[in-house]
Amino acid sequence: METSQRNTERITQQLFGEMGGTVTDGFPVIHSPVSHTEVGTTYLRAPGVVMLARPRTNVAGLAGFLEGFDPELNFPDYVNDPTPLPDSTQLCKTAGQLCYASFGPRRTTNENAAAYIERLTSAGHGSVLEHSNFSFLLYGISRSVTHELVRHRAGVGISQISQRYVSGSVLRFVERPEYQEDPELHRLFEERADRAAAEYESMAGRLLEYQEGGNAMLSADYKTDARKKVQQTARSLLPNETEAPMVFTGNVRALRHIIEMRADAHAESEIRNLAVRLFLCLVTTDPILFGDYVLDTLPDGTHTISTEHRKA
Ligand SMILES: Cc1cc2nc3c(=O)[nH]c(=O)nc-3n(C[C@H](O)[C@H](O)[C@H](O)COP(=O)(O)OP(=O)(O)OC[C@H]3O[C@@H](n4cnc5c(N)ncnc54)[C@H](O)[C@@H]3O)c2cc1C
Repeated sequence: METSQRNTERITQQLFGEMGGTVTDGFPVIHSPVSHTEVGTTYLRAPGVVMLARPRTNVAGLAGFLEGFDPELNFPDYVNDPTPLPDSTQLCKTAGQLCYASFGPRRTTNENAAAYIERLTSAGHGSVLEHSNFSFLLYGISRSVTHELVRHRAGVGISQISQRYVSGSVLRFVERPEYQEDPELHRLFEERADRAAAEYESMAGRLLEYQEGGNAMLSADYKTDARKKVQQTARSLLPNETEAPMVFTGNVRALRHIIEMRADAHAESEIRNLAVRLFLCLVTTDPILFGDYVLDTLPDGTHTISTEHRKA
């Protein structure tokens, strides 16, 4: 292994630990603690990232297929490669090798998987990376960040909290990194969060009164429908600082693109925070598919990720 790659692995693992990252059964998690204002409004100060799903690859299952070719090609031995790979790398590598029927003794073995993947990313053959998908719970992220994240359409799936269906009881806010170090900006943020929570509650109460009074604007036959109508109206006063958690699934090609765009030094600071955490969870799970990425620290102590092989 290259010394520079070892260094990157060491630095990323160190940062993962500093951010409170843990791995259970192969699933990395970076949780985000919850804070409260004096009157009890809940807010978070960093994104929480929980890997919910990752690939599992059945290489042994290829045996029946490989045995059907000329024995002289020696294809069945493909399933006996002694070097284990992360399942996500294995899946992409097998998909790529299927293209040229590279199952025989002259194929790239798992030992050289990193070089194989780098050939794909450097040549822009990113479609092979679309086979491996990862799903995350993302929380401690504001509505303004998620509005940027959902602009990424290709290769992703998104399920986001519905402000129409959930009530004020799960209302939480997100404090921007810039406010956290400055006592006055922090005080103003807490004041705003308290005010928004109180206004939401008061507006929801008033709308419900209208509802019960049979006001035409909010007429509804059923209780659930009534609540939805109240909440869909009351939510419009909520600020961009409102938390908007989601389950986010992306294939590796899409996730790489998102990390490159959003963990760039010019990206907005809150989404950069999120993209760096996503990267840390991904590289912890699969150091090969994300092995070309370099983590840097900016003068303000925040982090960026870059690669020579952008937009595979
Ligand atoms: C720093 C920064 C500033 C930004 N500022 C603004 C702004 O001021 N206003 C604004 O509206 N947006 C802004 N954006 C959002 C940006 O324009 C994109 O919408 C967003 O980054 C999604 O990226 P993407 O277009 O690559 O889409 P993705 O969905 O991530 O797609 C990945 C790639 O797939 C291909 N692709 C996807 N969909 C199509 C398609 N329909 N047709 C052809 N090819 C496709 C493209 O090659 C694309 O790059 C900003 C983004 C960043 C990072």
